[in-house]
Amino acid sequence: MKIIFLFTAFLPLAACASQPPLHLGNIHPGEVRILQFQVKDPEAKLFCRDLPVRYSSNGKLARAILIETYFSDLTPYTCQQKKGDRVLESYSLKVIAKEYEAEFLKVDMKKIKLNAKDQKRADAEQLILDKIYASSNNDFFFQLPFQEPMTSFKTSIYGKKRVYNNHKKGQHLGIDYRAAIGEKVPAANRGRVVLARDLFYTGWTVLIDHGLEVFTNYGHLSKTLISEGTIVEKGDIIGLSGNTGRTSGPHLHWGVKIQGQYVDGMSLVTETEQTFKNDK
Ligand SMILES: [Zn+2]
Repeated sequence: MKIIFLFTAFLPLAACASQPPLHLGNIHPGEVRILQFQVKDPEAKLFCRDLPVRYSSNGKLARAILIETYFSDLTPYTCQQKKGDRVLESYSLKVIAKEYEAEFLKVDMKKIKLNAKDQKRADAEQLILDKIYASSNNDFFFQLPFQEPMTSFKTSIYGKKRVYNNHKKGQHLGIDYRAAIGEKVPAANRGRVVLARDLFYTGWTVLIDHGLEVFTNYGHLSKTLISEGTIVEKGDIIGLSGNTGRTSGPHLHWGVKIQGQYVDGMSLVTETEQTFKNDK
């Protein structure tokens, strides 16, 4: 009896010495997971694959959004809550390959290449976007799950590879919803409108910063209905669908960019529904 007691008493000590990471489940390239954790120290920082990841916290409970890039090389995904060099807790995700569908298009390559004027415009706009993406709010603006901006048929889903004349040219890293010109487009969640203007590729576009490097964008609009700087609530109408920019017809393009990577909006909706469902 005594021996058994001693054995169990020592067990937690042994576990402390080399605590295994908490396993958070699986993630596929292009997906999102939310890590909820107890903050072990007020100065604790979170690192994933050795890079800092910002999180939202009430001092005790914290939430961070973890993402796996579409271009993942499937290396193991581990995160550590650290104070200085000391690891307070660690977490792991299993990265599992995902084969995204391809669509084959035949096009005149001359039509794909931009002329000098268009290229100059597109480059200048990219610089503006890069600046915006680098200055996200330092906490989440939202306290509710994300919603899809439309419920209509998806004419193109996230991750579809685009093969032009049998050469893989890119991939569609957003979701296209069937929409006529002039349909109302609601914000997927609360956030600050950081851009509402006409862009070369996506035409009239609204970009919302939801905080901590979580952004959603709405492209090819016929009209924007809010101005830059406005805080919008989830469901607020931000514009009307259309066919502006480089598009073959009217639809809504919805993009989700987190920590500099385009991820699947459906994954963000599902994950935030899971995580935020028990909140008040
Ligand atoms: Zn699209």
